Amino acid sequence: MMRPCYPVAELLGDGIGPELSRAVRGLADALPIRLEFRPVDLSLEGRRSRGAAIYDEAVEVIESCRVALKHPTVTAEESPNAVLRRRLNLSVIHRPVSTIPGVPTNFTRPLDLDIVRIATGGTYDDPGRPIGEDGAVSLRIVERQPVREAARYAFNFARKTGRRVTSSSKYTIQRATDGLFERVVKEVAQLAPEVPHNVELFDALLAKIILTPERYQIILVLNEYGDFLSDMACGLAGSLGIGASANLGFDSQAVVRVALFDAAHGTAPDIAGQNKANPTAIFLALAMLLNQLGELTIGEALKQTTLDLLLEGVRTRDLGGSETTETFTRAVADELRRRLNVNSPAPTASPPPPSHPQP
Ligand code: NAD
Repeated sequence: MMRPCYPVAELLGDGIGPELSRAVRGLADALPIRLEFRPVDLSLEGRRSRGAAIYDEAVEVIESCRVALKHPTVTAEESPNAVLRRRLNLSVIHRPVSTIPGVPTNFTRPLDLDIVRIATGGTYDDPGRPIGEDGAVSLRIVERQPVREAARYAFNFARKTGRRVTSSSKYTIQRATDGLFERVVKEVAQLAPEVPHNVELFDALLAKIILTPERYQIILVLNEYGDFLSDMACGLAGSLGIGASANLGFDSQAVVRVALFDAAHGTAPDIAGQNKANPTAIFLALAMLLNQLGELTIGEALKQTTLDLLLEGVRTRDLGGSETTETFTRAVADELRRRLNVNSPAPTASPPPPSHPQP
């Protein structure tokens, strides 16, 4: 049978980046679709030798593929993540955070959140200014367009996955800014009446997530709230280093135009080149990318297979196991092949029409 083929921009990085890239390629061979990787060298060497041109190339390749997988990069003269975020106008971050069965945590309850955060504005775009000696002031910025983009994304994701959306802010105090946020979310919610939606005050939400985590699924928030909530949730889940996220850019209709997926961890220079890197986070990033392409069954199978193997004790050394990057990758690939009924690599069909990714 012919396998559908999707072009994917792959941004190569530093440290453990090359090992992770090999792991991803190995895993991609186990899928019943074909991912045609288009690599761009964003390693420090590549950036230093090509200068701004490397970012021009990265932007062009990402825009033509519409989905990208980014490996970790050293932050030196500039942060490649920040440059790409600006150049591609990636205004929303989707960060799933879940407890991983078998990975030790202080918090013992299952947690499975999808945090959708507006990555611009709030209090973060204005460093503020002093007023005389003893005061200071800063602007808090909330705009309709990024809120609409994030809300549309969150409600579409909820519709596809059958999950609830909770929007959260301090609308009773920050009446103009957070009031606008909740009004725009409500407008979008009215277009998706089949998706359950509720509103919580942000301070109460933090306590409620800890007390009754099973009540929360997709959480839609402004920039700084999302920043705080992501770190709290990662701390609860004990999975700071094994998380992944999607950075999303939108067109004028608030439909996803480009999506860049990456792991939360850095380049791990202390273990680079030693076949010790844990590829879990980049596999979870790849699973999100597959969902974005509309390949929900394959994306879910990849995520679940990776988590099931971790639970069975198939783990790299950072999680107390004895697997190498290569043996862990092989184990996930073999199990995935079995679950998805994939035998050996098959011929490739022509690329599908450019209707993906999904909004
Ligand atoms: P780091 O995440 O690279 O490493 C912290 C610790 O976690 C190290 O002990 C490392 O060995 C371990 N670790 C990280 N990822 C691992 C993996 N996949 N498997 C096993 N162990 C892993 O953080 P750092 O040391 O603060 O940063 C190193 C470099 O990475 C810096 O230059 C930083 O700027 C960069 N960085 C890049 C990104 C990115 O590109 N998205 C994110 C964070 C940091």
